Amino acid sequence: MDWSEIEQAISATMGSQFHIDSRHPAGGGCINDAWQVTGQGRDYFIKLNQPSRLDMFEAEFDGLSGMFEVGAIRVPKPLLSGVASQRSFLVMEFIQMGHKGSTEQMGRQLALMHRKTAGHFGWHRDNTIGSTAQQNNWTEDWVGFFRRYRLGNQIELAARKGIGSHAVGLVEKLIDRLDCFYTDYQPLPSLLHGDLWGGNAGFDADGNPVIYDPATYYGDREADLAMTELFGGFDNNFYAAYANCWPIDPGYAVRKTLYNLYHILNHYNLFGGGYGMQAEGMAGQLLSACR
Ligand code: ADP
Repeated sequence: MDWSEIEQAISATMGSQFHIDSRHPAGGGCINDAWQVTGQGRDYFIKLNQPSRLDMFEAEFDGLSGMFEVGAIRVPKPLLSGVASQRSFLVMEFIQMGHKGSTEQMGRQLALMHRKTAGHFGWHRDNTIGSTAQQNNWTEDWVGFFRRYRLGNQIELAARKGIGSHAVGLVEKLIDRLDCFYTDYQPLPSLLHGDLWGGNAGFDADGNPVIYDPATYYGDREADLAMTELFGGFDNNFYAAYANCWPIDPGYAVRKTLYNLYHILNHYNLFGGGYGMQAEGMAGQLLSACR
């Protein structure tokens, strides 16, 4: 890897010469190579991948920018993306991560970020969830959006991957009946992180909450909350502070399974295995809640 093109690109973006004094592999990213790069007293966090993944980095850049601009919760400031030396790259602010901070503050700040709303559901571009394409076409109604661009898209991929006709049938029936989860609940198009599992949230060295690696779009805030519950890592103080800032509708207790079904189907599409059975169980459970 020849880093000089990246040095030049950073120099051009920052308007001052940048030379790398040292670089270290950073983080334990699932998808990309990540580096901490230091020069002239500045630190950058740089992700690298194959040139074909430029689009993914451009989408991550836009998602980080969207959340950074709102300023409700700390997000690494993205600087540039591009292709250099046969690698696509994304350069952002390096944040020294710490081990502890206030989960209460994280809950409050997430609620504040969710207060940023748009006129429609979606985002100005598609992005990725894991490495699966995530479609974000602007849509007026949430149920239509979630039906088509979330569950509908994932079950189509899962059917092609061989999830089995029973699971496909259950999810399709569920998709037909989605309205039943929204009889007295009207979500707002809130700015979402979109992939908020514990591995994508932490604290900086001063204890401030930080979120990163998003799959941003405007959607029902309950979708972000549901994902925090899927693999754990967020404590009661987080949820209490969130709800204190912006109370949660009681129907969330059922809808969270619906929102997490999207991620479990995505996990089936990415990793296969037992996620197929888990998705089938969730779809069955949701259908019984719908009678
Ligand atoms: P991937 O896209 O490969 O999954 P992530 O964005 O999740 O990579 O980053 C991997 C790890 O690197 C994170 O778990 C986090 O600890 C760390 N990290 C992410 N962004 C930054 C940053 N801007 N500065 C410092 N460390 C970061």
